[in-house]
Amino acid sequence: TGSPLQKEEPITDEKGLGFKGHDMLAPFTAGWQSADLHPLIIEKSEGSYVYDIKGKKYLDALAGLWCTALGGNEPRLVAAATQQLNTLPFYHSFWNRTTKPSLDLAKELLETFTATKMAKAFFTNSGSEANDTQVKLVWYYNNALGRPDKKKFIARHKSYHGSTLIAASLSGLPALHQKFDLPVPFVLHTDCPHYWRYHLPGETEEEFSTRLANNLENLILKEGPDTIAAFIAEPVMGAGGVILPPATYFEKVQAIVKKYDILFIADEVICAFGRLGTMYGCDKYNIKPDLVSVAKALSSAYMPIGAVLVSPEVSDVIHSQSSKLGSFSHGFTYSGHPVSCAVAIEALKIYKERNIVDQVNSISPRFQDGIKAFSDSPIIGEIRGTGLILGTEFTDNKSPNDLFPPEWGVAAYFGAQCEKHGMLVRVSGDNIMMSPPFIMTPNEVDELISKYGKALKDTETWVKELKSK
Ligand code: PMP
Repeated sequence: TGSPLQKEEPITDEKGLGFKGHDMLAPFTAGWQSADLHPLIIEKSEGSYVYDIKGKKYLDALAGLWCTALGGNEPRLVAAATQQLNTLPFYHSFWNRTTKPSLDLAKELLETFTATKMAKAFFTNSGSEANDTQVKLVWYYNNALGRPDKKKFIARHKSYHGSTLIAASLSGLPALHQKFDLPVPFVLHTDCPHYWRYHLPGETEEEFSTRLANNLENLILKEGPDTIAAFIAEPVMGAGGVILPPATYFEKVQAIVKKYDILFIADEVICAFGRLGTMYGCDKYNIKPDLVSVAKALSSAYMPIGAVLVSPEVSDVIHSQSSKLGSFSHGFTYSGHPVSCAVAIEALKIYKERNIVDQVNSISPRFQDGIKAFSDSPIIGEIRGTGLILGTEFTDNKSPNDLFPPEWGVAAYFGAQCEKHGMLVRVSGDNIMMSPPFIMTPNEVDELISKYGKALKDTETWVKELKSK
């Protein structure tokens, strides 16, 4: 590819004193100050592939970070950005000034959501900002209704909602809380709905869902329903390990939150725009939310953008209050950034023209069945997924309770083998996750399955050796 080769020497400071890794305080990276840190430096992308600076080609099985739905070089998105940059690279949306792309995108985006009616779209730059915005909207709403005590949020263990202070608090992953003095006190966590891992002996999926809904109700009653403002959930949990809701879960949970006048926030940052084989996760699980967060595939990640969709009931209250106060005093310089909006408009247009949901459904059985065929592996506890999202959990003896010693890092080893074979996946604890681009061809899916198989074989051999020591 003509790429310059990556230097093999450790990166040291100029005087050779000590070491500094590289100059970035890198997100979600361990040991970024160590001398032997060799980041994988990605230089270019093409369809479902990315290339590092040595020219090595990788199948991008995570679509960047669950986001490049249209792959790595969609010319229409580039053209939309270029045209907007040449016309109006920036103007803001404060004080009743705005731009045409942000107005157009709000209209187009609201039309894509049909699980229930949504009245307004608020633009952010990320999923984290969308979820932080959700908290402020809900508080503003309850203050307007004269319910100053109804302010707590209930989220779920193993959820991921982002990494700003409030989004990290909503998240149910210990690493996001430890050493950060989080979660903030108004955020509570309820059960993770992972049937395979948490069901009681003999308990059916429906019974498991009933037990979790009862636990949720008990938590609400213990705290006082007048103190609980909202419940937030990803339709399918992503970063927590691709956890699908058990049968009847959302039906039962929705009935509980409705009973206590608690708002339902659907965090669709990963699920929206086709990933589950439906336009939204809410369509798949019959969720009727009051508020929705989106980001990632909204622009296929070509420009940073997120959004909050607001129901007519909530937006009416916010509107009447903000009319009294003079403004809804929340927003970001880049809320509704015209270049991000122009790219998102084009992405939504492409999803529509190419029937993206049908495209996902045409390829997903090949992907799901192909990977699930490895379920018998002695080092795999569970493979779970739907549409174009899938997680593999490594455990011993097919049991959720027989964890491999954490110092073995079985999932990390598998991830490294994938990388060796030219494929990038996400590793987290004992899980690896995949969310390929929607544009994957059948041949590319076969290549993904073959690379997964090779990495699995390597990992099985290695675990066998470790066990025999
Ligand atoms: N919500 C969910 C469900 C996510 O998966 C993510 C990101 N992985 C976020 C929120 C946060 O989005 P961002 O990284 O754009 O802030």
